[in-house]
Amino acid sequence: MSLDLPTSLSPSKVSTFTDCALSFRFSAIDKIPQPPTVATVKGTLVHAALERLLALDPADRTIDAAVSCLADASSELDTDPEWAELALNADEQAVFFRDADVLVHKYFDIEDPTSIEPIGLELHVEHQLQVKSGSSVTLRGIIDRLERDANGQLVVSDYKTGKAPAEGYQQSRLTGVHIYAYLCEQIYGERPSKVQLIYLGGTPTIVETTPTEQSTRQIERKVTSIWSAIETACERNDFRPKKSKLCSWCSYQQWCPEFGGNPDDARKAFEGVERPVRPNGFSQA
Ligand code: SF4
Repeated sequence: MSLDLPTSLSPSKVSTFTDCALSFRFSAIDKIPQPPTVATVKGTLVHAALERLLALDPADRTIDAAVSCLADASSELDTDPEWAELALNADEQAVFFRDADVLVHKYFDIEDPTSIEPIGLELHVEHQLQVKSGSSVTLRGIIDRLERDANGQLVVSDYKTGKAPAEGYQQSRLTGVHIYAYLCEQIYGERPSKVQLIYLGGTPTIVETTPTEQSTRQIERKVTSIWSAIETACERNDFRPKKSKLCSWCSYQQWCPEFGGNPDDARKAFEGVERPVRPNGFSQA
């Protein structure tokens, strides 16, 4: 029996499919919910604090203001079901908030927020991408920060609350922001002059690159070919597991054949259950 095609693709879904097609099936097609983790909830909190900070007038973006922004964002956790699901005890909560505070402070080690001119924060972008088969797919995502640099050119930034990867792996992590650059070019008719990942974990690091005509065409080809592979996998009901170190963080292990499970049992287990879904199958912020 063929599987239903997902209705859209996002940078995180592209990354999930590339990492493991079966994980993509669980998250994007079967819509199996993934339990929240401390890392994902903390990542969301720090993103919210920085979004508030950058929304202030430039001169007001001080460390004290950032701490207030974090406190404001933290107060909303009381009504956040994912926070409730974590069920942290008092000591664990203290560590959680201390770590979030450290990440917000570290942001100031890597960038001067008073110099940033954001034109979009948590900006929703989408574009209808024509694919070879004559059909089209909606490519969409949320850009953490779109800004104008000193020369008036667009810059796409994505915050990461984990550590920066080793140098040899950094460029491969830029696919998501390259997709955002492609979306900006399609929507605004302007190719960003820079895309960057701002890592706040460990030693704060910015990994950046310049999108080019060649990289833009490569991204278009990559997304098109991934969509074709997804169409074929859906037609054949054939999403294969790809065992890797990411399996350690995968919340779908119990239904994965690599771990003795049956993928069809996942769908049956959640039949009729409302299924909110996070962007990928791994617990990474
Ligand atoms: S456990 Fe590993 S191989 Fe199995 S679905 Fe998850 S990431 Fe893929």
